[in-house]
Amino acid sequence: MKVITRSDERILTADVFERPARRGPRPDLGTWPEPGRDIPIYHRCDVLVVGGGPSGTAAAAAAAREGADVVLLERYNHLGGLSTGGLVIWIDRMTDWQGKHVIRGFAEELFDRLPPDAVAGPDRPDWGSQDPAKAHHWSFRTAAWHGIVTWSPTIDPERLKLLSQEIALERGVKLVYHSWACQPIVQDGATRGVIFESKEGRMAIMAKVVVDATGDGDLFARAGAAYESDIEEGDAHHCMNTAWLFGGVDMNRWIAFRSGQPDAFSAFMQRGREECGLFEKPYVSWRNDIAVFMGPRQSGYSALDVDDLTEVEIRSHRAMARHLEYFRRNAPGFENAYMMLSAPQLGVRHARRLKGVGRLERAQWPTGATLADEVGVTPAVSPKFPNISIPYGALVPEKLDGLLACGRHVSCDKNSHGFMREIPQCWLTGQAAGVAAALAVAQGVEPRHVDVPSLQAALIKQGAYVRQPVAQPATV
Ligand SMILES: Cc1cc2nc3c(=O)[nH]c(=O)nc-3n(C[C@H](O)[C@H](O)[C@H](O)COP(=O)(O)OP(=O)(O)OC[C@H]3O[C@@H](n4cnc5c(N)ncnc54)[C@H](O)[C@@H]3O)c2cc1C
Repeated sequence: MKVITRSDERILTADVFERPARRGPRPDLGTWPEPGRDIPIYHRCDVLVVGGGPSGTAAAAAAAREGADVVLLERYNHLGGLSTGGLVIWIDRMTDWQGKHVIRGFAEELFDRLPPDAVAGPDRPDWGSQDPAKAHHWSFRTAAWHGIVTWSPTIDPERLKLLSQEIALERGVKLVYHSWACQPIVQDGATRGVIFESKEGRMAIMAKVVVDATGDGDLFARAGAAYESDIEEGDAHHCMNTAWLFGGVDMNRWIAFRSGQPDAFSAFMQRGREECGLFEKPYVSWRNDIAVFMGPRQSGYSALDVDDLTEVEIRSHRAMARHLEYFRRNAPGFENAYMMLSAPQLGVRHARRLKGVGRLERAQWPTGATLADEVGVTPAVSPKFPNISIPYGALVPEKLDGLLACGRHVSCDKNSHGFMREIPQCWLTGQAAGVAAALAVAQGVEPRHVDVPSLQAALIKQGAYVRQPVAQPATV
């Protein structure tokens, strides 16, 4: 086990558990020739978004709002990706360290429309507050770091699923659930559609622009675009796990124990690691009687290896049962806990990252520079750094046309991935990709030639926070 400690570069202190042993190579069992065949075309559209996670939902909603004819394809039965089906219900910071609301647009629309009882977080006047009592209170409830109250609430995943779906439908997006995109259709160096598998078999969707929002870069990788996959060893961004919920708890009692009895809490954690092996502490949810566990974080596994994915699921489900037994016996507030739900979607933080025409890098953090092709702003990881400008180029493949990437696989270095993968940043890059895809269709150009000032203006019109749009026409 490795302990990652909180620093100016990392928000969380976390235990990381190395996989016990690597499997040997798979035996070579030969091959089977797959015959070629004609694939029926299921649909034709302007913009096809593949993956209905935070980024894909934002992309589809934004593209449709710009007037594009949009299809959103998702392998599961809901929208929200890891933020709903992955039970990652703690939405990270949307305010900067001064309390300014910088991740807005689609994110803001969601929070404006979620029912009040589906969201737990500090009231707006407290965002940025350094009042010690408020910071202390929220520091145990996902919403205060470095002594500053932040807008980083927890949400009810079912409400977010439903709202995401309804926004997409209101805008006229055609939703296709239970469908797994398996092969991009590439013609003359440009992606022009996708072949997908469903209960109906194999079919194609043709599109003028495809947005890869799979999180793992499935489409740009298979279309031959360059990507990176190196990891930051000192972070948790490469770890996987299946999150889960325990119901029947009293989180206020747990927090009173954790904050009021630090020595007893430390002993509890130490004994938990010894008894359970893989071990994790709970976080608050949107209700006092539900706790979320977003670990134990397991490293050394590949999100692109089906045996690894299976192993992480098995280990996580076993860990859930062991935690229930240990927490019931030892944790104040967990005496009546029960296993409410393990996440339908496996928690993958990192697989591939696009090599884009632009790239967000660690060297940029201290500069505070506003990039000419800025499509949004992310709060920095600590108050030591100013806000960080996100370039449109991070969504555009170096060479491949007809495709944009958004979400946790955008172009950035391994350090910057630690925050670029967070849900608000995925909403942000998703909205930018959606608007850009719609403009590419409307302007009759490849995404790399979209007029950047028009893109920035359209994003601002959609409520996004984009600084100093450049006056002269520019392309990436
Ligand atoms: C355990 C864990 C804890 C985390 N903690 C936090 C946190 O506290 N706060 C925070 O803000 N973020 C957190 N994150 C990060 C955040 O949840 C994700 O990075 C974010 O959800 C990524 O959004 P996305 O849209 O890029 O991808 P995803 O959420 O992964 O969505 C991708 C969607 O695409 C679909 N899909 C994938 N491939 C295909 C295909 N081939 N065909 C069809 N559909 C496909 C998937 O089913 C999924 O719905 C955490 C992540 C994990 C795993």
